[in-house]
Amino acid sequence: MKFSTDYLKVKLLFAMKKPAFILLFALFTHFTIAQGWDWGGPIDPLQAKFKVTHYRLELELLPETQSIEGSNTITFSAKEKLDTIRLNLIDEYQVDKVLMDGKEVKFSHKDDILDIIPVDCTCDQVQVFYGGKTPIAQNPPWEGGFTWEKDQLDNHWVGLSAQAEGSKIFMPAWDHPSNEPENGIDIILTAPKPYFVASNGRLIDTKESGDKTTYHWSTTYPINVYNVNFTMGIFQEAKLDFQSVSGKTIPMHVWVLQENRAKAEALLQVLKVSAETHEKYFGEFPFPDDKIAVVETPYLGMEHQTINAYGNNFQFVPMEKTQYDWLLHHELGHEWFGNKVTVADFADLWIQEGITAYGDWLFFWEHGGSEAYFKKAKAEAKHLPHALPVVSPPNSTEEESYHGEIYSKGAMVMHSLRGILGDDIFFPMLKAFASDERFTYLNLVNTQDFTDFVQAYSGQDLKGFFELYLYIVDLPTLKISKKGKSGYAISLQGIDFTMPVEVQTSEGVIKVLLGPKATEVTSTTPPIVDPNGWIMMER
Ligand SMILES: [Zn+2]
Repeated sequence: MKFSTDYLKVKLLFAMKKPAFILLFALFTHFTIAQGWDWGGPIDPLQAKFKVTHYRLELELLPETQSIEGSNTITFSAKEKLDTIRLNLIDEYQVDKVLMDGKEVKFSHKDDILDIIPVDCTCDQVQVFYGGKTPIAQNPPWEGGFTWEKDQLDNHWVGLSAQAEGSKIFMPAWDHPSNEPENGIDIILTAPKPYFVASNGRLIDTKESGDKTTYHWSTTYPINVYNVNFTMGIFQEAKLDFQSVSGKTIPMHVWVLQENRAKAEALLQVLKVSAETHEKYFGEFPFPDDKIAVVETPYLGMEHQTINAYGNNFQFVPMEKTQYDWLLHHELGHEWFGNKVTVADFADLWIQEGITAYGDWLFFWEHGGSEAYFKKAKAEAKHLPHALPVVSPPNSTEEESYHGEIYSKGAMVMHSLRGILGDDIFFPMLKAFASDERFTYLNLVNTQDFTDFVQAYSGQDLKGFFELYLYIVDLPTLKISKKGKSGYAISLQGIDFTMPVEVQTSEGVIKVLLGPKATEVTSTTPPIVDPNGWIMMER
């Protein structure tokens, strides 16, 4: 989760020195709290009693009044008879009625919680009719809500962003990252003609009625509720058949505003190269029976499953023979880490943001070569503040766990792992993790799943490494002292384990195990420890 959108914020933060970073982070934090909606954290005991297995969201988008009207039908399974079906929906919306088994049932709606008292039936569905003016996004996508915008041709252009707030800002739902409906979602959206609404999954039906059009989208896969999304506008479409490494042909679409119609094909090609690059390192595209797609949004971006938000103004950067769009590439990377490999607790959010951010580095490796990759690695390492642990305490909310280091330090951890394990182990390991059914789709993950997997796959004891870089902020300190005529004693202080580290000596680059006990190397010139910058240390 987490959008890379944050990425922009993160980049801004990292461009600053530590005190400014902390100050600005505090400001962002303040603003987000001021808006009042957060999610994640401990699971509500009433919600622990059931799981949602499917949503059927039917909404009319009413741009003239900036409101929505419709219903959500929630199919659930429960181990025991429920006295209360607890859902989340912000108080800004009015709930008109709730139906179960065709009958109206009692409910209460306050403090953003919708408690439904079920009728005595064996039914497993509840339909909530609701609507009203939507919350307006103050700073999308970081502070989400709806964005009711107009394009340059004065057409409506409507976006929705919910990563920081959860789905309760647009639909009644079991609003926690740990429950993905196993049968996905049907999203049925009605808009005034001639508008189009892009959404998750496949478009399975389009109906016209008077001056309105209804688009029925349906996902084939489980989906996290913050990924449920739609964007309304008048778009130019470009599409192609993407040949996946799996052998499957996957529809690939881009939808851009009419004013950018000339850029649609170029965006499609950038998307194709990004998808090919991710497939090379992360494995086959995870949602082949849906689609690969981006839609132009009135905010920077977000990783909505199979319909990524794109608002980076087509700022493609040439890289050797290809073009790179950091926002598009990052959000697409979340299809693997975020949407396929998903954390249940935001404490482990770095798995989504850090590994996806590392996927951005891998574009540099693949298309810019080793020089571009190591240049990026060194630049990222230089700006790391090392102010907060990468992994937050268990049951963290989005707000508590979301900070810049889950991106850059998370990526740096992956880079270090690559340095320690070597490419022959690291790259197959990364793909194997993203393909393992224990850690994908409905089987959500945590940090220990990842660290256990890496150790089992590599056969190496990396407990000290993971503890140091994921849970602690202090770095080991490099100590070098001269020993005799052509010897040097090198150690890493502040740790109780050893790591293989490259050392440049007068005889060339050697790999030595460095830890608290000094390791002696022979060199007629002062040795340079870790010349390629694989390992985080105080130098
Ligand atoms: Zn991201």
